[in-house]
Amino acid sequence: MPESLEAIIRESCHSVARQRTRLVDVVRSVQARAGSISPQAMDLIARELGIHRCEVESCVTFYSFLSDKPKGRVVIRLCNDIIDELKGVQRVADAFRQELGIDFGQTTPDGAISLEWTACIGMCDQAPAALINDVPVTEISSDRAREIVRELRDHGDPDRLVTRLGGGNNAHPLVHSMVYNNLRQRGEFVFGPINRAEAIRKAIAITPAEVIRAIKTSRLRGRGGAGFPTGMKWEFARAAPGEQKCIICNADEGEPGTFKDRVILTEVPDRVFAGMTIAGYAIGAAEGILYLRGEYAYLRAFLEDVLQKRRDDNLLGKAICGKPGFDFDIRIQMGAGAYVCGEETALISSCEGLRGDPKTRPPFPAQKGYLGRPTVVNNVETLCKVTKIMELGPASFCQVGSQGSTGTKVLSISGDCKSPGVYEVPFGIKLREVLRLCGAENAIAVQVGGPSGQMVGPDSYERTICYDDLATGGSIMVFGPGRNLLHIAQRFMEFFCHESCGFCTPCRVGNVLLLERLRQINAGRGAPEDLPYLEELGTTVKLMSRCGLGQTSPNPVLTTLRNFRPLYEKLVQPRKNGNVPTFDLASRVAEAEKIIGRRSVHAHP
Ligand code: SF4
Repeated sequence: MPESLEAIIRESCHSVARQRTRLVDVVRSVQARAGSISPQAMDLIARELGIHRCEVESCVTFYSFLSDKPKGRVVIRLCNDIIDELKGVQRVADAFRQELGIDFGQTTPDGAISLEWTACIGMCDQAPAALINDVPVTEISSDRAREIVRELRDHGDPDRLVTRLGGGNNAHPLVHSMVYNNLRQRGEFVFGPINRAEAIRKAIAITPAEVIRAIKTSRLRGRGGAGFPTGMKWEFARAAPGEQKCIICNADEGEPGTFKDRVILTEVPDRVFAGMTIAGYAIGAAEGILYLRGEYAYLRAFLEDVLQKRRDDNLLGKAICGKPGFDFDIRIQMGAGAYVCGEETALISSCEGLRGDPKTRPPFPAQKGYLGRPTVVNNVETLCKVTKIMELGPASFCQVGSQGSTGTKVLSISGDCKSPGVYEVPFGIKLREVLRLCGAENAIAVQVGGPSGQMVGPDSYERTICYDDLATGGSIMVFGPGRNLLHIAQRFMEFFCHESCGFCTPCRVGNVLLLERLRQINAGRGAPEDLPYLEELGTTVKLMSRCGLGQTSPNPVLTTLRNFRPLYEKLVQPRKNGNVPTFDLASRVAEAEKIIGRRSVHAHP
């Protein structure tokens, strides 16, 4: 007998002790069991949690993995980022369309299968890829797409699409995934041998202030991209008034081309959880949250198991490692498909059961973050480094890397290269050496730091990967001969327009204006004055936007303008007749031409 909606909602709310702040968990659970969060479901959830219905609706309509309308029992979400495009995703999309007999955004008439596009799912090293419900399916050819549809029609079970297992813990029964790690280069600080308890024992043998001093001495900076000094962040949170404090691990790597955290969480989750525990000890927090992006839901059961084993071994829980008064535990908070939640204040909003809207700063999270408590948000890789620094001491960390960028950096490399995958390299490595490692010596351009970073050409290959030169949160996308770089910039701008939360005008409107002008240029309707327009508007959006998304979203335009200007200049030559070609007469009269059955002599002279 089908479960009643009331029962589903009651159980979903009770499983989180009817806490309003767990709304994202509740709506995820309702959707998983009821297929959608219908208007009726929203009313019932609001009543059960004692909140207003519009709070539920604003949350449901914000996240791309949530829906207020029924979808198929199986949802195929095909990744449409630029790397998938380079690897032939359009052919795969056509095969899905033909085999299903529907277009993207539609559901088969029998309600069995929905087909959707989705932004980067963290599988750029094995593109084209799709999420089928929560199951990642990688390296899809058009033939395989047809088979997938036939198999789903036969058995309706996405788990049965996993016919081979990826390496390492991807073969663990709780992961059971075809995802490959593609771990090409292991460094000592993230992927080296692991001891589950040593770092914590060393940390609790000294005072919290001494732990923070050790992290400061190591000169560790945040690995998510911004590069803020970790020890300083911890010091602010420790000094901030408040009984309850919180550590959040940001595992929401949504930047297209980034997939390093996927591999870290698959292979060395103990190192991440140990880092969170040490951070908790240092700032005086008893609560930790791992914010796991919705795309990595397939790792959840495995990570919960790792956490439980740590509890069993007294590495989490009460009096950790026998230290009286040191209580700390970690819960996993799932995301639901929103790039902006990688921004730390948006991520905090999401943990609080709200839309993933960034918050105004100050106050900074270290002063007032999760539920108003002093909160440290650290990246997955940063926390691994914390563990290793406590194990080996800060001096050994400082011996690697450069003066302003100590230690190693984990890169996720994708695109036109022989060996896409994950590489742990010392900071200060030249970009040319990175390209040699991955087999991309003939690259015509490299996107360093994902779309929000910068696109550079061969004249920058002697530059170095570090905070003071080519900074990156991990994404390195390689483009080989024949690639259309301005088309790539346009795709990046489409991504930002889609992902903007819409709160502030410069980001919501400015990015659309940038995209429209770039489209005109790429369509051959640009004019020379478009270039200063793009520069001025792009700079304004960066300066006036409220959060990191808007402050970096014009970079695809601005950095290609700076580093590949001749490509633009070729497209915006002045017209001999002096006309400005920005108005596309032919497309504007096309419908009228169809109605009257003849072609305009003005549009087609
Ligand atoms: Fe939202 Fe963009 Fe403004 Fe950030 S910059 S708050 S993403 S509209």
